[in-house]
Amino acid sequence: MALIKCPECKRDISSNAQTCIHCGFPIQEQISKGKVIFRTSNDFIGQLGRYTVKDENGLVIATLKANDSIEIGIDTDTSFYVCYSGGFTPLKEAFAPADSVSQFSIGLANGDNGIYIVKV
Ligand SMILES: [Zn+2]
Repeated sequence: MALIKCPECKRDISSNAQTCIHCGFPIQEQISKGKVIFRTSNDFIGQLGRYTVKDENGLVIATLKANDSIEIGIDTDTSFYVCYSGGFTPLKEAFAPADSVSQFSIGLANGDNGIYIVKV
């Protein structure tokens, strides 16, 4: 289970929730054309390590632990940006076109490149 931001009230809710527990927004009823799936590796990132998925405006969409995943519905071509909380890593862009399912694998990169994002 991952935490996502309610698109209506912007508060944290479970990605499994049918409706927002804060404002009642029908999360699962949103009709989306495309879908983006982020799946993190099981690399050890410690108790506090997190991968953070942001939108183009820097708004946090999801916070993922190791061996975690989230699905996000999209209606237009969308760029996501992922960073890792456990170090100073540059944002990595993940581009997802509308009308298709894009799946990305996220994990820690060897060396000083921080994290990797691979479309699978
Ligand atoms: Zn809400």
